[in-house]
Amino acid sequence: QQEQGQWQDQIKWSADGLVPTVVQDALSKEVLMLAYMNKESLQKSLESGQTWFWSRSRGELWNKGATSGHTQQIESLHYDCDGDTLLVKVRQNGPACHTGAYSCFYREGMSKAAEAAPQQEDRFGPLSRLEATIAQRDAERPEGAYTTYLFEKGLDKILKKVGEETAEVIIAAKNRDGEELRCESADLIFHLMVLLREQGIPFDDVLRELEFRHRKPVKKD
Ligand code: AMP
Ligand code: ZN
Ligand code: ZN
Repeated sequence: QQEQGQWQDQIKWSADGLVPTVVQDALSKEVLMLAYMNKESLQKSLESGQTWFWSRSRGELWNKGATSGHTQQIESLHYDCDGDTLLVKVRQNGPACHTGAYSCFYREGMSKAAEAAPQQEDRFGPLSRLEATIAQRDAERPEGAYTTYLFEKGLDKILKKVGEETAEVIIAAKNRDGEELRCESADLIFHLMVLLREQGIPFDDVLRELEFRHRKPVKKD
């Protein structure tokens, strides 16, 4: 614990020995929950690689997911500019919220989204929202949702769909059927994103790879 002391000394614990901790999905980047750590729970988190908090209502150390099974594997831990807040990026198993919601922040106080001009929106906004929706379906498994069905069926089913949609993209392109190609491309991207979630690969990794290739001389195969 000698080396860890270096940065842990930067943390400003409140009068009651706590530090608010934001928990973020390391894959989708959604904010999942806020909880409090004390020195001991931080220590346990670092040792176990899972999140431990101090429950203010129950007055006890709390290993997130100990009863629900909805554990969080820590990918990284950050502390903010003035050391009074922690940020933990996690691999979330199931919902993060005790209500069964993927994120604790499912209730919207206000949003400017409705007012925003569509032209001003990021062109790739739909991809971000799709990634968040897929993460939510994975965590909550709402009944009747097609994405739930895919996750319940598992990897082989998802792979079968990726194969089918790829074939359909090829057929549509061969037929020069633009309308069909548009639909089948959307289906392929959706199923590919479900596959990435199932494999624990953040979509950012794919984007980074594309960016990386962009800077290198093109290799043809
Ligand atoms: P868990 O840690 O998921 O096994 O849940 C154990 C208990 O911790 C629940 O019954 C809640 O009281 C509490 N809890 C779990 N998740 C949250 C959360 N995201 N925010 C606040 N309390 C929670
Ligand atoms: Zn701060
Ligand atoms: Zn909650």
